[in-house]
Amino acid sequence: MMLPDVFFISIDCLRPDHVGAFNRLSRLTPNLDRVITRGSVFTRATSHAPFTTPAVASMLTGRYPFQTGVRLLLGQLCDNNAGTLADAAKRAGYITAGFPSSFILNSTTGLARGFDEYRDIEDGVMTRRGGCWQYGEPLNNALDTFLGRVGNDRVFCWLHYFDLHEYHLDTSAPPKTTYARDLREKVDAGCVASLFRILESHGRLDNAAFVITADHGECLFDHGVRGHGQHLYNSVLQVPLAIVWPGLMPAGAVRSELTRHVDVLPTLLDAWRIEADASFANLPGNSLLADRQAIDIHSYAEASPRQLFDGNAAEVRPFEGPEIQSIQTGDFKLIRLQNGDSELYDLRVDPRECADLLESPTASSTSIANALSERIDALVDSDAVGFASASSAEPKDDLVRERLRDLGYV
Ligand SMILES: [Zn+2]
Repeated sequence: MMLPDVFFISIDCLRPDHVGAFNRLSRLTPNLDRVITRGSVFTRATSHAPFTTPAVASMLTGRYPFQTGVRLLLGQLCDNNAGTLADAAKRAGYITAGFPSSFILNSTTGLARGFDEYRDIEDGVMTRRGGCWQYGEPLNNALDTFLGRVGNDRVFCWLHYFDLHEYHLDTSAPPKTTYARDLREKVDAGCVASLFRILESHGRLDNAAFVITADHGECLFDHGVRGHGQHLYNSVLQVPLAIVWPGLMPAGAVRSELTRHVDVLPTLLDAWRIEADASFANLPGNSLLADRQAIDIHSYAEASPRQLFDGNAAEVRPFEGPEIQSIQTGDFKLIRLQNGDSELYDLRVDPRECADLLESPTASSTSIANALSERIDALVDSDAVGFASASSAEPKDDLVRERLRDLGYV
């Protein structure tokens, strides 16, 4: 079987309810929708961390944050020889290239593992204050150059667009307005449209496979806050996920079962017919090509808001709080705080997580919460890397602090 080129596109803080392919009322993303509708969409896809670096690490390795060791914004990937998506692509015969857009995803994180080429974001190159991120256009130009160089070889490319992340810097309108405007203008009509034009110019658009997702969602005053990073409600954990794969993923299919970022790697291993050897052993996810009816699917997430980066975290007041963990099934979701507090939501009737069933606990809600809590313990204890192993870059200096401010984190 002839394998297609694969383009893995992640758009920072993209909410599924703002994408037309996931919400027919949205008219913000016609370019994205045109490609997504060639494949299958997953309407209950989840991320595993509410901020970029750990979320991307889980996306690219098919492992939870406690397994990758990336739990901070400036954390590093543990050297545990875990296979990555790019490793798998190379094994399938692809030339691999990674195009991250922010210094928090540079190769110092370990996320470049398996990529033949990886374009770090350096200071002063087409960036904003402090040289911390790049717009999609220079990323696309780099992709254009790369595709011009590789000739007819099959490629696996990951592009992470950061353009939507800066909406909060424009205070001339409410955040909901600037978010929608930036999605329509900067992302969809901007970098996404230009990406597809470039792929078309190289003859790599029509038969290509795409994985399209976000690293995490975004709070637009859901639960009283804006942004991401502070909590584990589904407004930040729910992400769009679409897989376009001619001949493999049915066009127009809408799948509503619980799915996870950790399912993407097993799905691509399956599509590429790669046997899961030691480097892909004990993955927590399952292929989306397999029959999932009989599988008991749980999605785990965690965050340590106090430790977004390894600096004087006490100064980072917007993110002050205890370590939090969550687990959700198709029906229920438990959020567990380090101080012993828990929240339980019945997602079947309360998908916005408004009514905490543990506020007036019953025997039934207590029993469900206990079972989910035990599930977290079993999962984490079985394969934890631990905070001690997650080393960090040097975030204490002023430049890094300034760059984090650019990202809206400080
Ligand atoms: Zn992000």
